[in-house]
Amino acid sequence: MENIELLVEALKKEGLRFTEQRKFIWDEITSSNDHREAEDIFLSLRKKNINVSRATVYRTIDVLVKNNLVRKLDIGDAPSKYENKIDSHHHDHMICLETGDIIEFYNEELENLQDEIAKKHGYKVIRHVHQLFVKPIK
Ligand SMILES: [Zn+2]
Repeated sequence: MENIELLVEALKKEGLRFTEQRKFIWDEITSSNDHREAEDIFLSLRKKNINVSRATVYRTIDVLVKNNLVRKLDIGDAPSKYENKIDSHHHDHMICLETGDIIEFYNEELENLQDEIAKKHGYKVIRHVHQLFVKPIK
């Protein structure tokens, strides 16, 4: 499916119109692999002189999360961060409590181990969230 069609489909499902503003939001999110707060995404659009309301940005991000196009990272006390899920392979995150840095990692053994544990309990894993909160070793 063409990239932009994913947005159109998601909006349709939520009963929302495809607008130029929402396309700008989509472009802003899909052009980056960063983990950003909704506010960062909003400010980045504003900096590019794109006239969108904060409410539209937040609402559109919610729709994208709900439709599996954007991943939401719940990182405890700080505001959630968001990342583009298009072309992004599954990975887990480490969050540095000192710097706020987010480090991506993927470990096949860990993935398999999680599947095994679920299986032992009579389940299969549909999706998982695995986050490590870390501090630099000094
Ligand atoms: Zn990530």
